Amino acid sequence: MRHTPMNRDPNCEVLIVGGAAMGSAAAYFLASAPGFHGRVRVLEQDMSYQHCATTLSVASIRHQFSTPENIRMSMFGSAFVAEIGTRLAVDDQPPDVGWHEAGYLFLATAAGLPVLQANHATQRAEGAQVKLLDPAALRARFPWLRVDDLAGGSWGERGEGWLDAYSLMSALRRKAQSLAVVWQPARVVALQREGRRITGVRLDDGSLIECGTVINTAGCGAAALAQTAGIALPVQARKRCVFHVRSPARTPGCGLVIDPSGVYFRPEGDGWLCGVAPPEDQDPPAEDFEVTHALFDELIWPVLAARVDGFEAMRVQRAWAGHYDVNLLDDNMILGAHPDIDNLLFANGFSGHGLQHAPAVGRALSELVLHGGYRSLDLSRLGWQRVLQQQPLRELNVV
Ligand SMILES: Cc1cc2nc3c(=O)[nH]c(=O)nc-3n(C[C@H](O)[C@H](O)[C@H](O)COP(=O)(O)OP(=O)(O)OC[C@H]3O[C@@H](n4cnc5c(N)ncnc54)[C@H](O)[C@@H]3O)c2cc1C
Repeated sequence: MRHTPMNRDPNCEVLIVGGAAMGSAAAYFLASAPGFHGRVRVLEQDMSYQHCATTLSVASIRHQFSTPENIRMSMFGSAFVAEIGTRLAVDDQPPDVGWHEAGYLFLATAAGLPVLQANHATQRAEGAQVKLLDPAALRARFPWLRVDDLAGGSWGERGEGWLDAYSLMSALRRKAQSLAVVWQPARVVALQREGRRITGVRLDDGSLIECGTVINTAGCGAAALAQTAGIALPVQARKRCVFHVRSPARTPGCGLVIDPSGVYFRPEGDGWLCGVAPPEDQDPPAEDFEVTHALFDELIWPVLAARVDGFEAMRVQRAWAGHYDVNLLDDNMILGAHPDIDNLLFANGFSGHGLQHAPAVGRALSELVLHGGYRSLDLSRLGWQRVLQQQPLRELNVV
């Protein structure tokens, strides 16, 4: 862990490139940190946020990960959301992010049961309130679920659910702006590097902004940005499609359910959201936002029709595609400074589970800027070292 604060000059400016969930969280935590007296500016290329992962997210929080750090970060995420009214109120107006504490249910066949049990042990050790259910208990609790092929499930009893991602991002931004953080519509085309330091960022209009510290929270744009400073960030965009469906089925008590096939669904309004990752050999770097409708017909519908009473009559109401920023090494985030550059922090490669980690990542980034090391939760294992040594810290529960 490094112990040198990033901002030795209290007047220097922290530039955050990318102002969606991570950039907004970093701005809020930094601006509200006792002892931070610097200036913070967020550079965002698209203030409509229409294509960023945050806006297109399924926006769900689970404690059910395999990596202890991910479990802890999600626990902080749900605790943060539970007290968001006091944390992010502006002019005594508390934000509403539509938090539904409805749980997650991971299902396993006999083949998947040992992994489910091992993850369960890790989650319990970290303090998550999760419970293993056998098929009879599953059927008793969720009478609409078909369990004949299942060996068990893991149910999150507390702190798991979903919210409105855009509202969370906006609440973080509004609060940060109330603390004097400036949002500037601007596209960064290059980081200007001199030896071990980034001295400024170049915008697409040719202008240069000097800086003290730069934080790269550019999502799927992060690798291109890193490249301009000579850093190879192993993060690529992958398309993930989400389908909003309706059906005459009723699923009381339904949380976000993950079928052993990888297909997931959860209630949303008067229907359900569902999706699945495409097979690996049909998952190229994403370039567009066209929905792959075949995924629903060929992979999702057959699974859901067999899993839930009444889902045979399911119809798609609308669908969208978003991009995961996938860390190709191990599906886990890359957080903190690269050993070759002192004043550039990365928060990238969230691989489809970043929204729930935004509060913890924002807090972690503020600690790195202020103290040069982690104070509340040690996230050192998620740093660059493992990437450079090609030693994956693999997250097994990627949805
Ligand atoms: C379909 C889908 C479902 C998901 N479901 C979940 C879920 O249920 N739970 C969960 O926790 N996570 C989920 N995720 C992942 C989560 O949404 C992301 O991990 C998280 O939102 C990443 O936030 P970010 O701020 O890092 O990136 P983004 O939201 O992608 O934002 C990056 C920002 O940087 C800006 N930018 C990029 N390049 C530049 C540049 N050069 N100059 C200026 N600005 C730039 C972009 O315009 C954008 O606003 C999902 C993602 C998708 C796509």
